[in-house]
Amino acid sequence: MSKPFIGHVIDGKEDESADGRRFPTVDPWRRGEWAEVAEGGADDVERAVTSARRAFTGGDWPRMGYAERGRALHALAGLIEAHAEELAAADSRDMGRPLGQALAKDVTRAAANFRFFADHARIAESQHLPSDLGCHVYTRFDPAGVVAAVSPWNFPLMLESWKIAPALAHGNTVVLKPAEQSPASATLLAKLAAEAGLPAGTLNVVHGHGPGAAGEFLVTHPGVDRITFTGESATGRAIARGAASHLTPVSMELGGKGANVVFADADLDLAVSWSVQAAFSNAGQVCLAGSRLFVERPVYEEFLARFTAAAERLTVGDPADPATDIGPLASAEHHAKVTSYLDALGTGDAGQGRIVTGGRYGEDTWAVRPTVITDAAPDAPVCREEIFGPLVVVTPFDREDEAVTLANDTPYGLNAMVFTENLRRAHRVSAALKGGTVWVNCFFVRDLRAPFGGAGQSGIGREGGAYSREFFTEPKAVVMNVGMSEGH
Ligand code: NAD
Repeated sequence: MSKPFIGHVIDGKEDESADGRRFPTVDPWRRGEWAEVAEGGADDVERAVTSARRAFTGGDWPRMGYAERGRALHALAGLIEAHAEELAAADSRDMGRPLGQALAKDVTRAAANFRFFADHARIAESQHLPSDLGCHVYTRFDPAGVVAAVSPWNFPLMLESWKIAPALAHGNTVVLKPAEQSPASATLLAKLAAEAGLPAGTLNVVHGHGPGAAGEFLVTHPGVDRITFTGESATGRAIARGAASHLTPVSMELGGKGANVVFADADLDLAVSWSVQAAFSNAGQVCLAGSRLFVERPVYEEFLARFTAAAERLTVGDPADPATDIGPLASAEHHAKVTSYLDALGTGDAGQGRIVTGGRYGEDTWAVRPTVITDAAPDAPVCREEIFGPLVVVTPFDREDEAVTLANDTPYGLNAMVFTENLRRAHRVSAALKGGTVWVNCFFVRDLRAPFGGAGQSGIGREGGAYSREFFTEPKAVVMNVGMSEGH
């Protein structure tokens, strides 16, 4: 039986590549190809950017009012909800996310992103500046133009919606290049957008690989006005170099090595339960993962025992099974990368870390068990590098300032967590920790108005609410003479 085909969506139509090339997408639990995907090249990127440009310069979308665009985006959110099972199955099949979690969390969030940005764009205020010059000065936020969105595989639909929704809500047109490991939901989304009434060319999808392929062709295309990228820090650097050739503004959400600091005065039930989520949800394939856990010494042994027991209770298995907490890693390459860290720990080198529980999950899967590591020095690779798997390093500390120093000792700066019942300490430590987000007594709780992004190697810029508007528009000052009679 022939495999399903996942095409580009260009100018409102699902299509093959100009040269007919395809590549396989692989189900990481069954470890077999399940669909064929159009392999985009320079011609396909050209067609998609041209289509987006046409929809921007001559089309209705940028000229509609916020309310009318908002209605279309709400209609799209409704279609996402109506097709939730299909979308969740697509992501689960592509990258191994447990189906129930993809359905309850990711698809729900994708629809919520469209609803939020549709409403936010409509009600966001602009400035009127009282002027002594006899002028009326005000700001406008005009759409920027054609937005290139390049996304990763770890929460495919959810992260794509986080980029596409604000870009569209502010009147731009979009070319999305989804991760090659997780193409299926993007094509479905673009087809739903057409059904929701978005004009042809408003949301285009080009599939394919990154370097020397669709991704690179897109971000170096002179017809692109904004690049929004989520992925690895090394890829971010390559894209920034390419974007520099046309001075295209970039927004980058990159890697992380989140610190999670648990003080002795914390509510330990709460701290254990959120810390397990922070370390192991989505098999640790989360940029925000709390992969470095620092625990104050008086509760270190008790916390470690309870945290380890909770990690061992998580069920690893088939993403389609409702009992599964943790699916396989997304691909053979990623499994090889994550297990290389486990293998290095097996050498027993001093300070490299010791596995308390976890490790490989069988010989014939790409899954890894929730893995707790202790006795790793701050400069050990497991403490410094983004592993992007279910591995967490637990380290004791004695003083608050020591915890802050350890937590901040990373080139990344995406996020941190603090668990304490002491109000003054919570504020003090939140201020001292590096990162775009600090969660106190929780993890991954999002308010879509808040700035989201990272410092250092974790990114450039912030998105969310007004921050997204700033990036996806050209803020413009209009200075209108209402009282001056002569030039000055
Ligand atoms: P990746 O950087 O390998 O790929 C991301 C996307 O970039 C893919 O679509 C890929 O095809 C494309 N790409 C690769 N090279 C390119 C190039 N030279 N030009 C243009 N496009 C190119 O990342 P990944 O492995 O898919 O995702 C995991 C990474 O994403 C992790 O580092 C994770 O921390 C990060 N991430 C960050 C956030 C955040 O919000 N900060 C969220 C999710 C994931």
